[in-house]
Amino acid sequence: MSIENILKKVKDYYPSADLKLLKKAYLFAESAHKGMKRVSGDPFITHPVCVAEILVDLHLDIHSIVCGFLHDTLEDTNIINKDIEDAFGTEIAELVEGVSNIRKIANKSREERKIENLRKMLLATAKDIRVVLVKLADRLHNVRTLEYLNKERQKKVAHETLDIYAPLAHRLGIGRIKWELEDLSFRYMEPELYYKICEQLNQTLEERETYILNAKKILEKELRKINIKAEITGRPKYIYSIYQKLKAQKIGIDKMYDLQAFRIITNTIRDCYAVLGAIHTLWKPIPHRFKDFVAVPKSNMYQSIHTSVVGYQGRLMEIQIRTHEMHKIAEEGIAAHWIYKEKSKVIDEEFNRKISWLRNLIEIQDTLKDPKEFMESLKIELFSDEVFVFTPKGEVKSLPKDSTPIDFAYLIHTDIGHSCIGAKVNDRIVPLKYKLKSGDIVSIMTSSKQKPSRDWIKIAKTTKVKSRIGHWFKERELAFEEKQKEKERDISVRKDVIKEKTTGSESIKREKFSIIIPGMEGEVETYFAKCCNPIPGDKIVGYITQGRGISIHRTSCNNITPDKFPEEHFIKVRWFKGRDNTFEVSISIVAFNREGLLADILNVVHGTSTIVNEAYAKFVGKGQATGKLVVLIKDVSHLKEIVKKIESVNSVIKVYRG
Ligand code: MN
Repeated sequence: MSIENILKKVKDYYPSADLKLLKKAYLFAESAHKGMKRVSGDPFITHPVCVAEILVDLHLDIHSIVCGFLHDTLEDTNIINKDIEDAFGTEIAELVEGVSNIRKIANKSREERKIENLRKMLLATAKDIRVVLVKLADRLHNVRTLEYLNKERQKKVAHETLDIYAPLAHRLGIGRIKWELEDLSFRYMEPELYYKICEQLNQTLEERETYILNAKKILEKELRKINIKAEITGRPKYIYSIYQKLKAQKIGIDKMYDLQAFRIITNTIRDCYAVLGAIHTLWKPIPHRFKDFVAVPKSNMYQSIHTSVVGYQGRLMEIQIRTHEMHKIAEEGIAAHWIYKEKSKVIDEEFNRKISWLRNLIEIQDTLKDPKEFMESLKIELFSDEVFVFTPKGEVKSLPKDSTPIDFAYLIHTDIGHSCIGAKVNDRIVPLKYKLKSGDIVSIMTSSKQKPSRDWIKIAKTTKVKSRIGHWFKERELAFEEKQKEKERDISVRKDVIKEKTTGSESIKREKFSIIIPGMEGEVETYFAKCCNPIPGDKIVGYITQGRGISIHRTSCNNITPDKFPEEHFIKVRWFKGRDNTFEVSISIVAFNREGLLADILNVVHGTSTIVNEAYAKFVGKGQATGKLVVLIKDVSHLKEIVKKIESVNSVIKVYRG
């Protein structure tokens, strides 16, 4: 790699780029680092050049690449910020300063240091996301050259990378960098394990390569039949992901058959579903392993269809299906989006909204005194399904995913909830059932004349808010009954009356809720354990009793600690509240067999924004095929709509539930 090489690459994707500026940055860095060497013995300038090249490969803008060249000048040389500003202007000077700030870690305890590091990094992000991209490139090149450091340093850098940088790359959707950071860090943190996995992979390399080749041929033939052009690749999985799987499943690598993943890249979304249809017709899909991130993208913008099938030679095959565009986003994440913005010069509102959670999180973190608290709040956003929204004053509120303005209103104050007449999100009026997204600024309109509506119980997402609204109605009913009774009864007896009422009302409250055991709906008896007496909203777990069905405990209940009972006695359960939930329904289909049948069916179902959990079809002879879909439906009318759509598909004979 050389500066000429970099200039050539940039010219390829960005013909009007200011190459002179790049050359100038290179020469500036070269003279600043003159005479300095890396631990490897190489001239220091090789490092910024490699960092710049990583940024070039992400197709970033010129200023980011300039910053890649200059990123170590402030820390390691006599250059000061003013020099950079004079030579390259304020914007570039700020970027370089941002990257340097991340590196300046105060002398603190390990955890504090980590948090401090994150804080600075994120502070920088708030100003300019490019700072983080340069820092990720810097870290990537440093772990690529980790072999030259001593063991202690290696472990420290690797640890920090897994803790901070890989999750950040993941959060920004840059899969390519995330995987490489993880594999390299793992190699230095657990060298024995790493090389053991490598060695075992090598032993079976030839056999696996033949397998991939043959499976690919079959897939290619199948896709030719339905006239679809797609790129098929079979690649070994990343070492770190194999390690995680081995750890989670507690099996040996010789028992792991899905050591490689197949990827099919198509031209259009329609083709994705067609390919899926073809695969599920060819091979039997494994239940619950089908995920449609095309219909429902991940929060880091990732889109793909995932499925696992009992594939060629009866072996488990994991397959990802996506378009070229989705593939670019999966590999480059936020970077892919960023260059798009640069080229079009359009302020991309969607993009800004997507990263605004990060900005706003940083604004609040100065008010949090305890760094641990900040770490916690960050973990939530990096790894879970919560949304962060803002009050008009900029206060952050966290809510579960899919929460609505009703949830938000009650979270602020019960009275605000009760008197809510409408909501504005980012200054626009939205319906009360609007699903809040991270970064939304929410304001609630109230009126003293307003009263809660029973519909709100359906609209609210959080159990706490549902029960608060329910409570309002209950109280009014109780107050009314109370008045009636007061008229009839002696005041001295009244107290004991109240007692009975309270117990009664609690059981009524709980009756409105029932328990769902995923996959066993309605098949098993459940009852509430008396020891911990769970009420709706509590975190709960089911315990399989002998012959008495399943007892429902709070997860915090002392009677069911895992050391007392074997793990297999526990089962996941959740609260279920009337019509707000979705139900899993299987739909059977009989049709005349033809090419692309399942694909067409999936396509019409996709059009109804329905989540499909399973889909397959098989040829049953006499020119006929049967198919089965397992879908999540909201209610009967939703189901009817899907059935009607499937019936309209050419060659479908009959569609029925079950
Ligand atoms: Mn560096």
